[in-house]
Amino acid sequence: MSKSNQPRIPETKGVGGDPRERLEDVADPPGKIWFRDLDEAVIEADRCIQCASCVAACPSDSIGIDEAEGRPTLVRMCTGCSRCWDFCPRSGLRYERVLEFAAEERALEEPAIYAAKASDDAAAAGQDGGVVTALLAELVEAGELDGAVVARERDDDPLRGEAFLATSRTELLEAGGSIYNQTMGLGQVDDLLADADLETDDPDLALVGTPCTIQGVTALDRYDNPAADPIALTVALMCTRSFEHGRLVSRLAEFDVDPEAVDGLDVSGGTLYAYDADGGELLAEDVDAFGAAGLRGCDECTDFVGGAADVSAGSVGTADGETTIVVRTETGARAWDAAAAALEATAVERPETLEKLSAWNRRRAESILPREFDPEGEVGITYEQHLEAYDGTDREPEPLNPARVHQYEEWC
Ligand SMILES: Cc1cc2nc3c(=O)[nH]c(=O)nc-3n(C[C@H](O)[C@H](O)[C@H](O)COP(=O)(O)OP(=O)(O)OC[C@H]3O[C@@H](n4cnc5c(N)ncnc54)[C@H](O)[C@@H]3O)c2cc1C
Ligand code: SF4
Ligand code: SF4
Repeated sequence: MSKSNQPRIPETKGVGGDPRERLEDVADPPGKIWFRDLDEAVIEADRCIQCASCVAACPSDSIGIDEAEGRPTLVRMCTGCSRCWDFCPRSGLRYERVLEFAAEERALEEPAIYAAKASDDAAAAGQDGGVVTALLAELVEAGELDGAVVARERDDDPLRGEAFLATSRTELLEAGGSIYNQTMGLGQVDDLLADADLETDDPDLALVGTPCTIQGVTALDRYDNPAADPIALTVALMCTRSFEHGRLVSRLAEFDVDPEAVDGLDVSGGTLYAYDADGGELLAEDVDAFGAAGLRGCDECTDFVGGAADVSAGSVGTADGETTIVVRTETGARAWDAAAAALEATAVERPETLEKLSAWNRRRAESILPREFDPEGEVGITYEQHLEAYDGTDREPEPLNPARVHQYEEWC
C-alpha cells in the first residue's frame, strides 16, 4: 500500500504571520505541533466532533477525555509529536481523501445495499431493524469477534451514552438502539480491553460509531498506528448530525419533555421523536429546532453514509422496522455472510433517498467548510494551510480557555 500521502508534519509552523500573538513568547521547535494548537483550532473553536481520533493517535497517552465536557483534554506532558493534529478530521486530516483511498483500496467493486431486519430478539432491541445488534451478536457468538465497542446509556444521566465493550449477545442486546451523543469509544479501546479481561492478548473487535469516528480509525489503520490494531470490523451509523448531550437535554426540557421520561430518541425524515418506555410519543418536532444542540463541527461533514466503513447502517430509504445496510468491503461482506442466518434482507425500497440525503449533506458541508474540499488532495493539512483557510472566519482558532491554561504551563 502506497504511503505517499501520509500525513506530513510541516517543517515550520507559525512562520510568516501566525496571528496568534499570545503564543509568541512560547518557543516552539520547528516542526512541532502541540495538542495546544489542536485545542485552539478545533476544541476551543467549538468545531470538535468528539471522534476521539486524537486520543487514540497520541503515542504518549497524553490526551484523555474530559468526562464532564465530553471532549479531549491534556492529561500529561505533550511532546509536540503532532499525531493528534495529523489524525484529526477537523484539522490535519483531509477526511475526504481518507474516504477516497478507502474507496480505491478497500471497497468492493459494487457495494451491496440491503433493506434488512433481524430475524431474532435483536429486532426488538435495535433502533430500526436491529441489524447491527444481530450482526455483531452472531459474530461474537461464532467466535469471529471477541467483542464490539458500542454505546449504552449511562445509569446516572438520562439519554447520555458512554462507550461500552460488549462481549456477549446479552450485552449487545442491552446496548441496542441509537445514542445521540458521541461516546468517544475509539479513544477508550485500551481501557475497555483492560477492564474486560479477555482471554486473548490479540483481540478482534468491531468498532461501531458515527462516520467521522470510522474515518479516524481507517486513517490510523492505513498509517500503521497501533491504536487500530484491535479493530477487525468497522460499522458506521449513517449520520447528518450528532448532539452535545447537555444542550440536547436542555432543549428537550424547553419542549416540556422530561429527559427521565424518555426511553428513546429517533431522528427520521427531518423530525426528532422522543418516546417513553411503552413506545408512547412524547415529542415529534422538526429536527432543525434542535440545531443549536448539535455539534457545530458536524456542519463541515460530507460523509453521511460512512464511506470508510466495512458496513454502514441507517434508516433512510427503508420502511419502519428495517435498517438500510451498505456492505462496502470484503471484510464487511464476510461478516455479513457469517451472520446471514440472523438476518432477513431484501432490496432497498427507495435507494434514491440515500443518494439525495448524501448529496444534500455534501452541499451543506461544502458551503460551510472554510477550506477547499478536495478528495484528490494531500491527506495531510499543514498547520499553516489550516490557518490560511480558517483565520478571519467564524471558525478560526480561539484562545485557550483560561481555566485550562495551567495544564499547558505545567506540561508543555
Ligand atoms: C448520532 C446519530 C445520528 C444518526 N442519524 C441518522 C440519520 O440522519 N439517518 C439515518 O438513516 N440513520 C441515522 N442514524 C442511524 C440509525 O439511528 C441507526 O443507528 C441505524 O439505522 C442502525 O439501526 P439498527 O436497528 O440496525 O441498529 P441497532 O441494532 O440499534 O444497533 C446500533 C448499535 O450502535 C451502537 N450505537 C448507538 N449509538 C451509538 C453512538 N452514538 N456511538 C457508537 N455506537 C452507537 C449501539 O450500542 C448498537 O450496538 C444515526 C445514528 C446516530 C448514533
Ligand atoms: S475532532 Fe476528533 S480528533 Fe479532532 S479534536 Fe475533536 S476528538 Fe480530537
Ligand atoms: S455529522 Fe459527520 S461529523 Fe457529525 S457526528 Fe455525524 S459523522 Fe461525525
